Amino acid sequence: MPRGKSTNVYLICKDCKMQNYTTRINKKTTTKLEHKKFCPTCKKMTVHATGSEIKHSSGN
Ligand SMILES: [Zn+2]
Repeated sequence: MPRGKSTNVYLICKDCKMQNYTTRINKKTTTKLEHKKFCPTCKKMTVHATGSEIKHSSGN
């Protein structure tokens, strides 16, 4: 088992608020992350910030 738990979160474009990407963060050590990524909606590189946690529908 790997130490610590990583959580899948969305990366949200700060310009159009689209959830374009997903990433894994450790919520205990990382609260906020920002990545410069290409947004297909804005059609340019924009800042994407970590957003809400991705909940899997299967399981409990
Ligand atoms: Zn965008």
